[in-house]
Amino acid sequence: MKKLLLTLISAALIVSFTACSSQEKAKTEADKETVYQVALLQSLTQGYYDGIVKVSELKEHGDIGIGTFEGVNGEMIVLDGKVYQALGDGTVKEADKDETVPFSNVTFFEADIKESLTDIKNMDGLKSALDKVVDKNGKNMFYFVKVNGTFEKMFVRSELKQEKPYKSLDKALETDQREFDYKDIKGTIVGLYCPDYMGGLNAVGWHFHFISDDREKGGHILDLNFKSAEAELDITPQFDMKLSDNETFQGMELAKNVDDAIKKVETNEE
Ligand SMILES: [Zn+2]
Repeated sequence: MKKLLLTLISAALIVSFTACSSQEKAKTEADKETVYQVALLQSLTQGYYDGIVKVSELKEHGDIGIGTFEGVNGEMIVLDGKVYQALGDGTVKEADKDETVPFSNVTFFEADIKESLTDIKNMDGLKSALDKVVDKNGKNMFYFVKVNGTFEKMFVRSELKQEKPYKSLDKALETDQREFDYKDIKGTIVGLYCPDYMGGLNAVGWHFHFISDDREKGGHILDLNFKSAEAELDITPQFDMKLSDNETFQGMELAKNVDDAIKKVETNEE
């Protein structure tokens, strides 16, 4: 009897364990197809720099992505499950798990498409080469891209940490943007494509960050050129967004048109 009871208990344990792990698996499978976004580029652009999720929580939603940190304390590059912080002084460190995040996009990366890129002379060249892939596979999907290679030119920026009261992002960058021009550097571009209907929630089109293979240099890409590199793209058909119940966040007018400010902070163009 005792033996039978033990057998029953262990059978029950196995059943519950199996149920749990298949749920976990289902969640991971769903996350592989989902863009997880923290807040809006529009809230960040208007100066909402308070962290909404911790780095440890962000990692539960993806192993690749881009974003920034509380107080816009550097550019975020998520690659191979690690969250890197490219700081305004030009150094890169792995972000602390308790560091918080006011804006980010991540997913679990699974390459659906591979594409060789050659003779890319600038940002427009990179965008139009990748746009061809998007046009072929569906312009109304999200795409994460990873491009590993040697870059003849890699011109990136980061910014100094902001203190409260926060200024809008374009104002903050006027004085606190720092630029770094690297030559013949090995590393990885991590990028996100948002379809054009995302204009109220993010930047439409491509947005790229960079991290060097030695994980010592990185930032938001302003310009580049390279002879050849392999791109891997992940088509992502679902979207999940995390908002803040913070009073300041809830008091913001997030439908306000900040397209010009976004263009300015994304590209350095006036
Ligand atoms: Zn950026």
